[in-house]
Amino acid sequence: MSDTLFSKIAAGEIPADILYADAEVVAFRDISPQAPVHFLVIPRQPLPTLNAALPEHAALLGKLLLVAAQVAAQEGIAASGYRTVINCNADAGQTFFHLHLHVLGGRALNWPPG
Ligand code: AMP
Repeated sequence: MSDTLFSKIAAGEIPADILYADAEVVAFRDISPQAPVHFLVIPRQPLPTLNAALPEHAALLGKLLLVAAQVAAQEGIAASGYRTVINCNADAGQTFFHLHLHVLGGRALNWPPG
């Protein structure tokens, strides 16, 4: 059992605004939103980065995207659009080492990112 902050959120040990949860995946609002809608989708299994993903995780990784789309629809940003981001290690600015997919929407997002 991991003790990452995100594992504790998934276990209900630390409060968060949970948007979706099942046996494998949890989605919750980012505590420091960078867009009107900003939530994170995590696997309960605490892979530290995308680099740790193995072929056996393929279905789980796919599920993160499906849950992202489902929650984006719930949040009313499916038609207007949104961005999914996985930051991996230092150059991407990853700060929490429990794999998580950001979903941002509710405003126009610049591309490319800085
Ligand atoms: P990253 O920089 O990709 O590792 O993103 C980590 C994200 O976790 C940041 O957007 C933080 O705002 C977010 N975050 C940190 N602590 C919490 C928390 N307790 N609840 C929700 N989001 C959090």
